[in-house]
Amino acid sequence: MLNLVCVQQFCARCEEIEDCSVDCDRRGRRSHTFWNDPVGVLLTYLCEPRPWASKIVAIAHNAKAFDMHFILNRAIMRKWKPELITNGLKFISMKMQHLVFLDSVS
Ligand SMILES: [Zn+2]
Repeated sequence: MLNLVCVQQFCARCEEIEDCSVDCDRRGRRSHTFWNDPVGVLLTYLCEPRPWASKIVAIAHNAKAFDMHFILNRAIMRKWKPELITNGLKFISMKMQHLVFLDSVS
């Protein structure tokens, strides 16, 4: 079970601003911490309307060995149909809806 998810986000308009405490003029806060049901809240957050983006890419550290399993479980509970690219038991990428999950180490 995951206890905590920390997110830093950027879009094409704010990607040059390294300091994540500076808000995006389109999306507002760029740093988020999810404590309660962090995987569910993360997926809900990633599914919030972003009319300027047709795709959301989520990159996680060590996701292939760890985090993507939690996200996959939750996606299946939501009756989504993830497309997985795997190498043995490790995930290379996972696509579902408009979301793409990648490992930062791959
Ligand atoms: Zn932005």
